[in-house]
Amino acid sequence: MPEDRFRAERESILVLAKKMCEAGLVVASAGNVSARVRDPLARAIAITPTSIPYDVMTPDQVVVVSIESGAAIESTFRASCELPTHLAIYRHRQDVDAIVHTHSPYVSTLSALRKPLPPIIDEMVVYFGGTVEVADYAFTGTDELGANVVRALGDRAGALLSNHGNVCVGRDLAEALHVALTMESTARVYVEALRTGGAVPLPEESLRLGRAMYDRRRDPQRGAVPNR
Ligand SMILES: [Zn+2]
Repeated sequence: MPEDRFRAERESILVLAKKMCEAGLVVASAGNVSARVRDPLARAIAITPTSIPYDVMTPDQVVVVSIESGAAIESTFRASCELPTHLAIYRHRQDVDAIVHTHSPYVSTLSALRKPLPPIIDEMVVYFGGTVEVADYAFTGTDELGANVVRALGDRAGALLSNHGNVCVGRDLAEALHVALTMESTARVYVEALRTGGAVPLPEESLRLGRAMYDRRRDPQRGAVPNR
């Protein structure tokens, strides 16, 4: 059996997917995780397979896919059905090296309401880059959903998907997961605030300072996404 040149990437995806599940951001085999493979010549991503629960998933089941063609490379399993959305983001955001897609409860509540998540806590602008917008509805797994998500994401670190969940992006898997965890906790604050009279918006100056911190953490060569 030939050596697997994508072994490290497959293992990293699996570790992160299990963390996402254990954190309660998804259940069973829901959601998905991807990251660019390290070899730039491969121009590919590693992504979780479709329909395999995270507690029994193994590294060899993680799928490597060409970013340009969407074809699987040296893989035996089928990629997550949300592959078109992942590919659309990697094609449009050179600064993004990892993506986490979740159905976390409070994020999904806002996505069902089709309500954007405004920055009502200081750290939200620093980590997300501004309001988390809602992508127009399209059925799961379609190219149309991918295009809608790219539009809603803009240059920020996350977007909600109408009647579905969210996507969170980062320069690595840990950063994308951090965005997902922060988004769920702040979505909870926002939903609770809505229930009890509504949140007071952040002052304009705080929005400006937070966005400047987000921008400072972006790689000046490639543009984008904050550090934790
Ligand atoms: Zn989903």
